[in-house]
Amino acid sequence: MRLGVLALQGDFHEHQVILEQLGAEVRQVRLPEHLSGLSGLIIPGGESTTIGKLAVDFGLIEPLREFGRTRAVWGTCAGAIFLSQDARRSQPLLGLMDISVERNAFGRQVNSFEVDLCVDFPPTVDPLRRPFHAVFIRAPLIERAGAGVQVLSRLEDGRIVAARQAKLLATSFHPELTRDDRFHRLFMELAGEAPAA
Ligand code: GLN
Repeated sequence: MRLGVLALQGDFHEHQVILEQLGAEVRQVRLPEHLSGLSGLIIPGGESTTIGKLAVDFGLIEPLREFGRTRAVWGTCAGAIFLSQDARRSQPLLGLMDISVERNAFGRQVNSFEVDLCVDFPPTVDPLRRPFHAVFIRAPLIERAGAGVQVLSRLEDGRIVAARQAKLLATSFHPELTRDDRFHRLFMELAGEAPAA
């Protein structure tokens, strides 16, 4: 079983390194045929409008939708926007997750921040429930989560920053930029692949 990183734009390489450290075989996805045989895909942070435009240009929109109907897909930051149904403006979206997002909800690049979050990980991933140190860079908020969506984490003021819908995962922040691999382990579990111990 193999995992993919959508390698159109953004920090896909950081995700790839962590997945490989956890024992996965990782393929960079740029064309529809690169999806074949994968059990899960990460859509990285970057710029959601750019990722969306390139996905249109490379004929990836429908293949990605088809892929995400049955397999694990995790979007971080721009990737979470791309997974959503609504981003309040017209840009290509996969619409796979029943969430609406507000882009750049915390302001500009200089308003980026880091915060410790409580995350509702399954006990297989994190029996100890330690806080997760999260990095937010021009991050989106998940302003609406539909009935089938499980909220995994909120800021102290209650706003949603991580959510899961069956095998789909969305995080406003960037777990690939810290050493904590619990979200990558969760993703591998959703993809049906147990991380190496
Ligand atoms: N602000 C970017 C967007 O709207 C996301 C930023 C990021 O991925 N770090 O797409």
